[in-house]
Amino acid sequence: MLFINDLQRHNLVLKKEILALTEKVLDKGRFILGHEVKMFEKEFAQWCGTSECTSLANGTDALEFGLRALGITADDKVITAANAGGYSTTALLAIGAVPVYIDINPETLLISRKSLQQHLSSEIKAVIVTHLYGNCCPIDDFKEMLKPFNIPLVEDCAQAHGATFDNGTNTGNQGDIGCFSFYPTKNLGALGDGGAVTTNSAVIASSLRSLRQYGWEQKYQMTVTGGRNSRLDEFQAAILRLKLTKINDWNNARRAIANHYSREIKHSAIEVLPSSSGSVNHLFVIRVRKNREHLQQFLRENKILSEIHYPIADYRQPVLAEKYRSIQLPQTELACSEVLSIPCFPEMKENEISFVIETLNRWKG
Ligand SMILES: *Cc1c(COP(=O)(O)O)cnc(C)c1O
Repeated sequence: MLFINDLQRHNLVLKKEILALTEKVLDKGRFILGHEVKMFEKEFAQWCGTSECTSLANGTDALEFGLRALGITADDKVITAANAGGYSTTALLAIGAVPVYIDINPETLLISRKSLQQHLSSEIKAVIVTHLYGNCCPIDDFKEMLKPFNIPLVEDCAQAHGATFDNGTNTGNQGDIGCFSFYPTKNLGALGDGGAVTTNSAVIASSLRSLRQYGWEQKYQMTVTGGRNSRLDEFQAAILRLKLTKINDWNNARRAIANHYSREIKHSAIEVLPSSSGSVNHLFVIRVRKNREHLQQFLRENKILSEIHYPIADYRQPVLAEKYRSIQLPQTELACSEVLSIPCFPEMKENEISFVIETLNRWKG
């Protein structure tokens, strides 16, 4: 079976180095907030081009604590997309804040400029933009639009480690905060859970360091509201430091696969989702105009796996559906019914890429 992202292949290449690092951490005997975490934070901030990075237990906590550090509290309204897997929704609901869903650009499936403009008001306390599938949002435009309202901008970079904007800068350093996940399938993935918030604000970083340890500013003194336990461990940090030295090559390999797909997939019922110029192609997504299930079945018969990212708009999720009954975002819903992710990971072989293309092109959909 060809997976959409073969983690075994991805990690076994590094087996020797990973085992050596594991032994090193074990021998040292410090497992939480030690040298590896400190160094990873420093190196990751540098790689993103920010002055600060605070590691956390996962990407959803990065969104939640990042929002809390920006001052978001219960009942605050926050704009977000509804086609990005529900993570921002989970973070907002944890705070008791209110997601305001806006529609996406039908070409890119990223938050639409027009929709954002329509929904901005003094009632909105933050905007979360997701660089979905590794593709970057038009960040300069968004920043310009938010400026008159003085609304903080949150970048969800969980699918876009190392992606670059049209202005040449990196994801994670253009918003007020950048929220990352190091879940194993991400472009920079740990061997367990992990997350981080990047920022150029020392105040926000300091607040995050309290929030991730029970709201402590000093040991055993709970001074910051909303704190919990959310930390990256030393094993994961050591592995992430190793992987950070390889990620640029991996991202380039993903780009090459995406280019190949974009050039050669030709089918009347399939459209290739365009990549932004500095995309890191976390997922390679096609839009299937009809019979998506049939295509998935056909691919499976040919030992190719595919997945839907994501099938349900956040506001249609059972936990929210009652409250958001009257909302309808046509482009979001169309995307949910058409998108399909096909195999794309750095270790994919040339013959595998060609086989996926050939199989798609001969589908009688
Ligand atoms: C994976 C992901 C997250 C959440 O990360 P976890 O580490 O799984 O909590 C957030 N946003 C997006 C867009 C993601 O893809």
